[in-house]
Amino acid sequence: MSEIEVTRNIGISAHIDSGKTTLTERILYYAGRIHKIEEVRGGGSGATMDHMELEKERGITITSAATTVHWHDKKINIIDTPGHVDFTVEVERSLRVLDGAILVLCSVAGVQSQSITVDRQMKRYRVPRLVFINKMDRTGADPFKGVKELKEKLGLHPVLMQLPIGAEDQFDGVADLVTMKAYYFDGDQGETVREEEIPADMLAKAEEQREIMLEELTHFNDDLMELVLEGEDIPEDMIHATIKKGVQSLGMVPVYMGSAFKNKGVQRLLDAVERYLPSPLEAEPQSATDLDNPEGEQVPLEPDASKPLVCMAFKITEEQFGQVTYTRIYQGTLRKGETIYNTRTGKKLRVGRLVRMHADDKENIDEASAGDIIAMVGVDCASGDTFCQDPLNYACESIFVPEPVISLA
Ligand code: GDP
Repeated sequence: MSEIEVTRNIGISAHIDSGKTTLTERILYYAGRIHKIEEVRGGGSGATMDHMELEKERGITITSAATTVHWHDKKINIIDTPGHVDFTVEVERSLRVLDGAILVLCSVAGVQSQSITVDRQMKRYRVPRLVFINKMDRTGADPFKGVKELKEKLGLHPVLMQLPIGAEDQFDGVADLVTMKAYYFDGDQGETVREEEIPADMLAKAEEQREIMLEELTHFNDDLMELVLEGEDIPEDMIHATIKKGVQSLGMVPVYMGSAFKNKGVQRLLDAVERYLPSPLEAEPQSATDLDNPEGEQVPLEPDASKPLVCMAFKITEEQFGQVTYTRIYQGTLRKGETIYNTRTGKKLRVGRLVRMHADDKENIDEASAGDIIAMVGVDCASGDTFCQDPLNYACESIFVPEPVISLA
């Protein structure tokens, strides 16, 4: 598979306190970048430590604007998605660079105000989503409530992909409705996934729920519909392909569950990210404004490494070693040492240092190509700026209005 096919650019959005930080930590841990997560907070017990303190404690940056992790053979760029209630330029930029997202809900609180706002923004940008119902270990945890509210409050088509094994503080694992297997998470950090048969006493319920899931999938695949109608077995590959189609068409939202704090369920969610969220090749096509065209015509961008470069700065931070410009490459290849052109300022600049951010370190890289998200160091520019290579003069952001050229002759 090519580099672009194994890339996933995702955001994680949640109402405050649903466990977005804990989930992100777990993802970083399972993806091998943080070695041992220390228990510095009590699980829902009211003990608190804010993110800054947490970061200081561990000496790492849990969420830089974009963090790269690896899951199986996939490269997942996690983009920090501000959960602002207002529709700001910053939110717009962060949504623009995503190809998919995880919406985190609390199993007790269900869909809350911030989820409603963020989901509206995601719809506008046509971002395919998966849902993770977190805190399944809490008293009153109810995944069905979450599913009902996803439908009623967000107008989504949620499809339950798992059933919980054990309730509340006895929550022990998940029964997967695609593989019809049970998954348990062993080890101090839940690092080992153990696959077993679904417990006999919940098999009938799982089969019933699987029928409901398959029924939903018939909307996206006629062959699958025929097999369902004829009562035939449905190949697992066909189910995966149909879920992927449903997710990418925004026609359905698969629902997973677990307890990030109790180290249960997160790996199965990562499997779903890898399988169902689109690569940049499969994502919504992107376009830019051609500034050389008097009509400001929109031109399609091609996620092809061999085309002239088009990339956009979506977030800027100041670090001790200089300005860090987080950049999404839409077309072509960005190379260290090459000269690129800022289409807003009209200035040329040389790319001195390129880095890929991980949870606890920075990796110097020589180049990155279409579909990827990396950071340029020491480049003087503003968030929202587009960089191109000759002969292109494009602007990725539609809100950028070029100044009229005044002739003094
Ligand atoms: P965020 O505001 O969405 O980033 O939420 P945090 O990750 O900071 O979590 C908020 C609180 O919920 C913290 O006290 C966490 O320890 C707790 N928490 C997170 N995940 C779980 C979970 O799966 N179960 C329980 N019981 N508590 C959790």
